[in-house]
Amino acid sequence: DVVTSPPKELPAFDYSPPAYSGPSRDEIIAKRREYLSPSIFHNYKSPLNVVEGKRQYLFDDKGRRYLDAFGGIATVCCGHCHPDVVEAIVEQTKRLQHSTVLYLNHAITDFAEALAAKLPGNLKVAFFTNSGTEANELAILIAKLYTGSHDIISLRNSYHGNGGGTMGTTAQSIWKYNVVQSGVHHAVNPDPYRGLFGSDGEKYVRDVQEIINFGTSGNVAAFISEAIQGVGGIVELAPGYLPAAYDIVRKAGGLCIADEVQTGIARTGSHFWGFEAHGVVPDIVTIAKSIGNGIPLGAVVTTPEIAKALTRRSYFNTFGGNPVCTAAGLAVLRVIEKEKLQENAFVVGSYLKERLNALKDKYELIGDVRGRGMMLGVELVSDGKLKTPAQSETLHVMDQMKELGVLIGKGGYYGNVFRITPPLCFTKEDADFLVDAMDYTFSRM
Ligand code: PLP
Repeated sequence: DVVTSPPKELPAFDYSPPAYSGPSRDEIIAKRREYLSPSIFHNYKSPLNVVEGKRQYLFDDKGRRYLDAFGGIATVCCGHCHPDVVEAIVEQTKRLQHSTVLYLNHAITDFAEALAAKLPGNLKVAFFTNSGTEANELAILIAKLYTGSHDIISLRNSYHGNGGGTMGTTAQSIWKYNVVQSGVHHAVNPDPYRGLFGSDGEKYVRDVQEIINFGTSGNVAAFISEAIQGVGGIVELAPGYLPAAYDIVRKAGGLCIADEVQTGIARTGSHFWGFEAHGVVPDIVTIAKSIGNGIPLGAVVTTPEIAKALTRRSYFNTFGGNPVCTAAGLAVLRVIEKEKLQENAFVVGSYLKERLNALKDKYELIGDVRGRGMMLGVELVSDGKLKTPAQSETLHVMDQMKELGVLIGKGGYYGNVFRITPPLCFTKEDADFLVDAMDYTFSRM
């Protein structure tokens, strides 16, 4: 059926922000140009001046409401400015903003305990960081120290951060600079849509063995992988790949690192951690993004035995374990439980995926719909057989969706995949609005 009119109003929401009296968009743009690094880019032709956020919505300087289906890049899991999280932050800020982990403070240990309770096996010892990059840097260091090897295997198309070690494991040319990345081996990506071997997990896994046999001394430090590649364009791994890869890596003495920076903290809906859907238990888990609901907080969690590897020298992070951040982290875990956000991510995410799949049947431009829960991807291709990336169309649809009041992200190596990673409180009505806006946009192309 042809869509002739844009979707009606966004779902009702009982809040409107006070009139904005700050500097104009143009003033902010001018300052941004002059004072911010030229490396910083924005998503839209006409950038959005975001003034407030409430739950799954953002408001601009004119008081216009937008459905935030990118969620601060898969970060705002409880919703913008969730009252419980705000209260935890404010209360902690009034008492103690910072002291470092050199002193005792229960905001830090209470959060560490709560986080351990969410993890399987003996994964219970945390080291706190301020970002996903820092968490992965540390996980790699721990694996090298523990095993005595310096060989790390990561998947092509992955994103693990932009530090000295993580830029090596990150495997997309667009995120790499020409710097030394010794010891990193990139395995063929088990991507069912674009991968070399389709969805045959067994074939991909042979490449991991080949890397160990022919690219290392036979021993490796670690294998690091996302459970669903986020920046890489919401790429799910071929069935059976991860457990088989873990087996091979462990036989070569390596540790298995689950990068849960995007997939963790209930986002995938079916499980609290992305790795659980693959039936594996990692040796080290790295966490960031959603755990602070937007507050900078990251963590490396491992077993007590592996954690000992880091005690041979001093290792420290000034802000890591900051009590305001860990108080936010504890509040996030409680809100997810109290508001059943994981269940919501599953139910609404499944519904949204179903509706997106129906759009795929309608428009040839949509080559693939994938992901789980509140981590969904829609890949646009101008030729379905050749899978030719439709980059300009992707940008156009994003811009049009913004005009209709919906914010989505994009990613993938070719920049042709929509990333839909809203706050986990996203509703069925929100999902309908998003799909109707997309349908209307595609129908006019
Ligand atoms: N790991 C994954 C899976 C990510 O998606 C990201 C960021 O997008 C990172 C690590 C790096 O996290 P950060 O940007 O907080 O350093």
